[in-house]
Amino acid sequence: MRYKIWIKRTVIDFVYENGNRWLPKETGGVILGYRANSLSMVITDVIGPGSKAVHGHYNFHPDQVFHKKEIARKYEESGQRITYLGDWHTHPNSYPYLSNQDKATVRKIAAYKEARLPNPIMLIAAPPKKEFKAWVYGVCRPNKSAIYYKAEVIFY
Ligand SMILES: [Zn+2]
Repeated sequence: MRYKIWIKRTVIDFVYENGNRWLPKETGGVILGYRANSLSMVITDVIGPGSKAVHGHYNFHPDQVFHKKEIARKYEESGQRITYLGDWHTHPNSYPYLSNQDKATVRKIAAYKEARLPNPIMLIAAPPKKEFKAWVYGVCRPNKSAIYYKAEVIFY
């Protein structure tokens, strides 16, 4: 499957800027937007780690209370158009590929009924390089195996 993700330029600028600020530690947050169709998503907004996030050299735990509040606020402000689409985080001085832990996290997001998000996005950046990849989780029928698609990214 070929997922296409439109990303607002200011969103990725924020990811690079926040990623550099936290070097050599990890940082992250959530991404918001809307689905244009089953294979296309538009990322319009990004939220940072939050003040209670835990930043480690090889791990990151977001401030989930802050994120829940911000997601709800954006949702209302946008007339219920802009919703949670997935997470972003950094791999300092490394590469933007999914670790086993990242795969487990994105599977958990997809399984989380309240989010109603069968195809969450996991965006990973690799500061200080200006490099990132956007991964989309999916389940392959008939055997239900997990697939992590590398999305085609288009800036706007
Ligand atoms: Zn990771």
